[in-house]
Amino acid sequence: MSALLDGLRADLAALSDQALRRQRRSNALPCAPRAMVDGREMLAFCSNDYLGLAGEPRLAEALAAGAARWGCGSGASHLVSGHYAVHDELEAGLAAFVGCERALYFSTGYMANSGIVPALVGRGDAIFADRLNHASLVDGMLLARADMYRYPHADLAALTRQLEASTAKRKLIVTDAVFSMDGDVAPLAELLALAERFDAWLMVDDAHGFGVLGPAGRGAVAEAGLSSWRIIYVGTLGKAAGVSGAFAAGQADVIEWLLQKARTYIFTTGAPPALAEALLASLGLIAEGDDRRRHLAGLVACLATELKLTRWQRMPSRTPIQPIRIGGNAEALAVARALWDEGIWVPAIRPPTVPAGSARLRVSLTAAHREEDVLLLARTLNRLEHTILG
Ligand SMILES: *Cc1c(COP(=O)(O)O)cnc(C)c1O
Repeated sequence: MSALLDGLRADLAALSDQALRRQRRSNALPCAPRAMVDGREMLAFCSNDYLGLAGEPRLAEALAAGAARWGCGSGASHLVSGHYAVHDELEAGLAAFVGCERALYFSTGYMANSGIVPALVGRGDAIFADRLNHASLVDGMLLARADMYRYPHADLAALTRQLEASTAKRKLIVTDAVFSMDGDVAPLAELLALAERFDAWLMVDDAHGFGVLGPAGRGAVAEAGLSSWRIIYVGTLGKAAGVSGAFAAGQADVIEWLLQKARTYIFTTGAPPALAEALLASLGLIAEGDDRRRHLAGLVACLATELKLTRWQRMPSRTPIQPIRIGGNAEALAVARALWDEGIWVPAIRPPTVPAGSARLRVSLTAAHREEDVLLLARTLNRLEHTILG
């Protein structure tokens, strides 16, 4: 009928043929280690709900009370009339928590990242980005139209050479704090030193560190003991914080500039004020969450000691992201399928999300897991390594 639709159908079929077509699984239960998929109970190691707050009743109560007070919608964008007193309270709380002068609340981390980069740099400027950065940062770079230099993962020497060679007016170094498919932490102190040496901004996406790392869960930058007007810190609020949204924090004029210029902040309806009420409650629970973080660290250590793998390999990560490197795509899929058949849900991550030959299981642990959950996972993997052929 139309070449357009025929082309799209052929492309969909090609995705299926290459085993690249993705499938959603519908969970009949709230976010927690126990999921219900197609009527089967599954033990899940997939979520980024690191502190187990997504299902925390006190957050649901704060959200309900927020809805009773504020209703549902914000009615407009923040700069028109969709900004409420509770948003101010949340931003002040976030800024104080991470030790910055000011914070700006975005609806999602994707929007924060894709809006902040083009607000800071444009044509004639240069962006230096770790090759394993999150897609939302990559999209922000594409929108910025600045010159892009992607350095090999955590390769400070390569980054230094790129900075030395640059004649750009404004320079922006962009990095994930905790890399989402590897679980390792960026060399933040060294990156800041380079930013100072070459007069660059340093944007740090702490989606997986906020709430988890650092004193009281203040994040990766606080853990590294760093503070600088050059740092634009981004924390997301749908992972450890258990709600949704994100924020940028930094020096007051920088944040004011983002408020004026970030198109993903300006041209979108403000998030429901009730969410901000839930987020204020979450901030309190994160701050007093040392028990959750201690339990989580215990689970990470437990997995490391209980896994006895030879062919496969637990990747060197101290964060709750615990990838297990399998290697080949087919083998990684076979392991994920075998786990699934035993009621354990772990996603297999394949190229192009990760480099060819490094297909892996991405295990993520949360404070809602019990030690026996992790023991079951480790024992099952130890056994499967001998029964699944590479
Ligand atoms: C999840 C994630 C984001 C996006 O945050 P959302 O709030 O889910 O849109 C950004 N950066 C990284 C590294 C992430 O893992």
